[in-house]
Amino acid sequence: MTPRRTLLKSGVAFVALSLAVPAVVQANEPIPVVATFSILGDMVERIGGAHVSVTTLVGPDGDTHVYQPTPAAARAVSEADVLFVNGLEFEGWLDRLIDASDFDGLRVVATASIEPIAYDDDHDHGDGHKDHAEEAGHDHDHDAHAEAGHHDDHDHDAHAEAGHHDDHDHDAHAEAGHHDDHDHDAHAEAGHHDHHHHGAFDPHAWQSLDNAVAYVDTITAALAQADPANAGDFYQNRAAYVAEIEALDADIHAIVASLPADHRTIVTSHDAFQYFGRDYGLTFLAPQGLSTESEASAKDVARLIERIRAEGISAVFLENITDGRLLEQIANETGATIGGTLYPGALSGPDGPAPTYLDMMRHNATTLAAALSP
Ligand SMILES: [Zn+2]
Repeated sequence: MTPRRTLLKSGVAFVALSLAVPAVVQANEPIPVVATFSILGDMVERIGGAHVSVTTLVGPDGDTHVYQPTPAAARAVSEADVLFVNGLEFEGWLDRLIDASDFDGLRVVATASIEPIAYDDDHDHGDGHKDHAEEAGHDHDHDAHAEAGHHDDHDHDAHAEAGHHDDHDHDAHAEAGHHDDHDHDAHAEAGHHDHHHHGAFDPHAWQSLDNAVAYVDTITAALAQADPANAGDFYQNRAAYVAEIEALDADIHAIVASLPADHRTIVTSHDAFQYFGRDYGLTFLAPQGLSTESEASAKDVARLIERIRAEGISAVFLENITDGRLLEQIANETGATIGGTLYPGALSGPDGPAPTYLDMMRHNATTLAAALSP
């Protein structure tokens, strides 16, 4: 739909019915919004309901890390009243897409109020996740909060000018809204053997149900701002959704609690489950780094295979968005079995096991628990 047609239609309807029930007329016209990937699109639909028309750029089973924006995506963004993005450099192509569009709506960074997990150069894919979480919790607190609630680009440009190599906060700020290219992008490291530049954050924050509540709060506030006439409905939808999120969180704690201490290490393709591991006391190892864009190095694969053997890790897991050949090779070399398919960053199609965000989180938890149970 085009904004012009929307305005015209509601304008005409408003004239015809303004003496009767103008609020209802406004309520009937869904606002066009864009979400960058399927998980975020599902959350926005849950909060927006019939009041929003959601276009999702990277659909089910799609890999957002390596997405290439299309002309249709630029058109959808141009027409959107609100653009929902994950942030934390998950959408490395975002600035390019916005530059190619006429977007002048509200840009919302869904991770604005979460505490991101830092990810270092010398991160060896599994050790020290607790330290990282600790560091993020203490040192990056103020940044997460500083990001919350402002959606214009003005402040972000100032942040993007700030510190570089030694500044842990650079990336979070840069992600939030600057339009110039910068050489500190994690994705620019693709093909290098040291994987990640100093100061990157794990973008896969939706893998924590606690974080999901923060996503939902940010989404709700943004929709209420964009469509104040329906704010009451958005907050009502939020309350119901948060209750479901919290119930699922309790379920997953119960599911994971049954696993013995020596059955809590999981091998996946890329490092997408650090938040999940932090919340539920599991250790995730992966031959690939934060982004599927960078190749796993032979050294990392060899080190991972050693660790699987040394610790007797019995199962490795495929991902819906990545090629499973490397994991199959690791399984063959170690004797570990393939424990199933996890969903790190995209929903399944409607007939798959993870058609919604909550289905996805439950599927991941039950798949892990089934394979790890002694
Ligand atoms: Zn990922």
